[in-house]
Amino acid sequence: MIVTENVVEKIIDVHVHLYPDEIVPRFYAWIEKKHKLKAKMPIEWEKTLERLRMMGVSNVFNLTHAIVPEYTQMLNEWQGFLKENYGFITFGAFHPENEDELLIEAFERGWIDGLKLHPPVQKFKPNSKEALRIYELLEELKKPLLIHSGWFPDNSFEYADANMYDELVFNYSFPVILAHMLVGKTREIERYLDARKNVFTETSNALVEMEIIENGEKILWYCEDVKQIIEEFPDRVFYGSEIPLVWWEPEETLLNLLKLDVDDRIKERVLYRNAERFIERYLR
Ligand SMILES: [Zn+2]
Repeated sequence: MIVTENVVEKIIDVHVHLYPDEIVPRFYAWIEKKHKLKAKMPIEWEKTLERLRMMGVSNVFNLTHAIVPEYTQMLNEWQGFLKENYGFITFGAFHPENEDELLIEAFERGWIDGLKLHPPVQKFKPNSKEALRIYELLEELKKPLLIHSGWFPDNSFEYADANMYDELVFNYSFPVILAHMLVGKTREIERYLDARKNVFTETSNALVEMEIIENGEKILWYCEDVKQIIEEFPDRVFYGSEIPLVWWEPEETLLNLLKLDVDDRIKERVLYRNAERFIERYLR
């Protein structure tokens, strides 16, 4: 494995979940009690940060979706704290059951840079009426969205299937990051990246070797399509890890990216240059 000198300390991880301590037990319960898996690293935010620093990560996009509508305000204030004290890029919380004002205020007060939505957790489809209402708001505010896409442990593709992002991609012009490269159906992200220049994706889960058998069908996370998409769209893919919510080795995504048989300059773009440009272009 080669972590080249010029990459260490520069990495920008665009898929990190630093949550306040009072929420952390919910994540342990979700991984360990609900799914009977083992959390592979501490989920507490300060320990997570230490681990990220050890991996050469200099900045993160911190993502806090509102698991329930009551958490929105608290999570956005939390993001404001992280932004002020650590300079992170913050993708904050909103829930279809919240009033517009909560999101508007979070942007106005500078707590958040963008919005994180998690349809399979928040239980709405990305092409539903509830979703379109939030997209209208983001279009007005001209703010970016990072949204879960692809297979999810609780409900498979029910709220995150490949064709459910058509309305979002084709009807709006705010920047969109489709998380996880549509994991499980990565080939199908090509038409979205092809269609619109304001659409991006990131590597979390897509570079993890995971094979799930569901109704007799094999669902692969890391596959040949991942490499092809990175090579086809070298300016539109970011490095993301899903740390600390991992039941695989936390370093796996980074190591698999570094091992990938693609040009080193493409790896540099994925590891930090593309995220730097995104920040410069949309968040300054
Ligand atoms: Zn995540």
